[in-house]
Amino acid sequence: MSIQRVGIIGGGQLAQMLAQSVKHLGVQCTVLDPNEDCCARSTCEQIVGDYDDVESLKQLANGAEVVTYEFENVSASAAVLEDIVEIHPSTKALAVAQDRHIERQMFCDLGIAIPEYEPVECVQSLEAALESVGIPAILKARRLGYDGKGQVLINDPEHAAAALKTIGDVPAILDQFVAFERELSIVAARDKLGNIVFYPLAENVHRGGILRVSKAPARDVSDALTAQAQGAARKILEEFNYVGVLAVEFFQIGKGDDGHLVANEIAPRVHNTGHWTIEGAQTSQFENHMRAVMGMELGSTEPIGHSAMVNIIGNEPRPGALDAMPEAFVHMYGKAPRAGRKIGHVTLNAPSADELDSLLERFTRVVG
Ligand code: AMP
Repeated sequence: MSIQRVGIIGGGQLAQMLAQSVKHLGVQCTVLDPNEDCCARSTCEQIVGDYDDVESLKQLANGAEVVTYEFENVSASAAVLEDIVEIHPSTKALAVAQDRHIERQMFCDLGIAIPEYEPVECVQSLEAALESVGIPAILKARRLGYDGKGQVLINDPEHAAAALKTIGDVPAILDQFVAFERELSIVAARDKLGNIVFYPLAENVHRGGILRVSKAPARDVSDALTAQAQGAARKILEEFNYVGVLAVEFFQIGKGDDGHLVANEIAPRVHNTGHWTIEGAQTSQFENHMRAVMGMELGSTEPIGHSAMVNIIGNEPRPGALDAMPEAFVHMYGKAPRAGRKIGHVTLNAPSADELDSLLERFTRVVG
């Protein structure tokens, strides 16, 4: 069956880029989003409704041949769709990604290395966890955390109660603070027949819990690191009989031959550390996600030169600044500026790693 219309739960920038990626295949998208002004409205039909409104979900399902989603905090109500329409990736993967404790248990069950951590329910269990995990440590809400929200660094056991209060006294995990060399991620896609493709690893810089820059392919990645990242992603994709794009974020501990990865989290969707693939790979993560959910063969993940993706966070660059960088591929999402909000991204691409570094340096000087 050739698919004409895909339904997407969520109408943010990820939905917008998913829809744009399949325009050339003649595929249309409908998004479900409560915000009449959502990013994807320019590219897609929109059903204005809450993500957990059963009638709106049914309307989405009835108007599309397959449904996917652009963010992992889709409510359990989406399960009603399973009786009406194909939905990918599986809601089982969603449920795991929504809860950091369950996610960490999944990593353990699959033999994937993770940072030392403890589940936390109350001040007493947090104090006990601080004893076993040690200081410094990061307290993270189990659910609904993103871009560093719902997290607090603890440097002193005396601050346990205050830290728990900061995240809203909700169930949490306490993570050992990992003194990592760098952060790496892998984006992979699996089709309905079980074929898996991997993009090269990306090296990511976060500040305040928010991704600032991704560079891909990551430099100085040994075959062992690649094998570790691909092996982890493969196990997760197969565990869930997953269809679509999945990202796994890692911390690299140690350098050179001593380098190894511990997994931090998964995203059962297209991911910010894969945005560079729009210009920097033969087939973007967005198109490969859509190809997978539509039952099509996956496209090549071969990189084109070297790429850096820089998020535009909070404010727009000063007027005219980006005009001075014609080499920059600019993606503005049409979102109002707000502190800490991702309102766009820029991709830089160059034939060599050195040329990319020069371009990035010039970008930082010109755009700030
Ligand atoms: P997360 O929401 O878990 O992806 O965390 C956001 C960012 O906070 C990560 O990308 C890291 O930069 C930092 N971070 C999270 N967990 C840890 C940890 N256990 N140790 C050190 N840094 C961390």
